[in-house]
Amino acid sequence: MKNDSVEIIGGGLAGCEAALQLAERGVKVRLIEAKPLWRSPAHKSDGLAEIVCSNSFKSTVPTTASGTLKNELNMLGCKLLKIAEECKVPAGSALAVDRDEFSARVTEAVEREKNIRVVNAVADSIDTAAMTVVCAGPVCHEKLVDALTSLTGEGALAFYDAAAPIVTADSIDMDRAFFGARYGKGGDDYLNCPMNKAEYIEFYDALVSAERVVDEIGGVFEGCMPVEVMAARGVDALRYGPLRPVGFRDAGAPYAVLQLRRENTASTLYNLVGFQTNLKFGEQKRVFSLIPALKNAEYVRYGVMHRNTFIDAPKIIDADLRLKKCGNVFIAGQLSGVEGYVESIATGLLAAVNVSRLLEGKDTVVPPKETVLGALCGYISTPNVDFQPMNANFGILPPIDGAKKERKQLYYDRSDEAMKRFVSGL
Ligand SMILES: Cc1cc2nc3c(=O)[nH]c(=O)nc-3n(C[C@H](O)[C@H](O)[C@H](O)COP(=O)(O)OP(=O)(O)OC[C@H]3O[C@@H](n4cnc5c(N)ncnc54)[C@H](O)[C@@H]3O)c2cc1C
Repeated sequence: MKNDSVEIIGGGLAGCEAALQLAERGVKVRLIEAKPLWRSPAHKSDGLAEIVCSNSFKSTVPTTASGTLKNELNMLGCKLLKIAEECKVPAGSALAVDRDEFSARVTEAVEREKNIRVVNAVADSIDTAAMTVVCAGPVCHEKLVDALTSLTGEGALAFYDAAAPIVTADSIDMDRAFFGARYGKGGDDYLNCPMNKAEYIEFYDALVSAERVVDEIGGVFEGCMPVEVMAARGVDALRYGPLRPVGFRDAGAPYAVLQLRRENTASTLYNLVGFQTNLKFGEQKRVFSLIPALKNAEYVRYGVMHRNTFIDAPKIIDADLRLKKCGNVFIAGQLSGVEGYVESIATGLLAAVNVSRLLEGKDTVVPPKETVLGALCGYISTPNVDFQPMNANFGILPPIDGAKKERKQLYYDRSDEAMKRFVSGL
């Protein structure tokens, strides 16, 4: 057993996974959790690993990116996914959990571990002399935001109150879309999705009557109006806003035009410009599919409207999740620039693997870019002028040739092989 002690800030999904992984490797851990002394507006209970919103860990189907990531995590010996399996509730092909049981079981597993000491305190500083994993989540305490800012420099942290959906390029109907910018300014920067009057009215009616997520953490998105709220101001409000049809003289005078903007340099992902939304995920798919070019669109991220704090990852961490400025400090979970429960767990796991390797005098590692976890690490550490958090999705993997249907299986098979090689080399 080693005597080294590692500090983990935040006993959420990433923090608990990291703590359990390190404890298993014989590393002593001080897990600092602010609850019950302080609770973020999103957290309601005092348990560790609290799931703040949907109880779904998304698909288990191997030919989805989320299913592929789960397969990778199982190969890496993920602790929280195993606990999730033990308290799952029926949810078709998704892994959904009883959130109270999940939190209780994770808390029990952490408390049972003799190498972990849970300390209830609001961390307001980062000890750069110690080995530290910061995973205080997207609604972390402001004092820690200040501590991170002073460690990494101004502008290293970002916040959003709203995010627009992102779709895969190959799911867009290119026969119903065209490249170009309004008034020809910007070449082919945008992919435009036109609607005629009948299509627009059908879309509009569906949008204003669609089901919204109840705003439980209130008052967080004054600066950025959801598209459905703007639409409710009048039938033409969007046609004077994000859907204005002007500047496309050669495109057959469309009645309304949604613009899509490239999300990554490989142009495999596009975001819906100005479509930050608070609609339920299923409703986003239903309503936005009424835009002809998006009829069969696949969403890698749905629009969300809640406070989210994340680091400007490409500027301040490397793919192994270490701060460029301070190699003792790792950032994991949603704060690192990934988005989602499973993605947060995954980065907690990787941070623990790397902390443990450093303590053993070994180099840090990053899974191959053909794996979803490796691709996520690559994405968050690649220069990006408008960096936004990223979900697991096949659009961030190196492209693969083949028919669309087979391609997903190929992504899975390639990841499976790459992760097997990675695990055997650890
Ligand atoms: C409102 C909301 C809804 C979301 N809905 C979904 C969803 O439906 N599906 C999905 O996949 N993802 C969702 N996410 C995104 C993300 O997956 C979750 O936030 C996830 O819990 C992130 O895991 P984490 O470990 O990074 O942070 P968390 O699980 O939030 O854990 C962070 C922990 O750190 C503690 N903490 C904070 N500051 C300090 C401090 N200074 N000192 C000590 N402890 C501190 C907190 O109390 C918390 O326990 C949502 C996020 C938010 C904010």
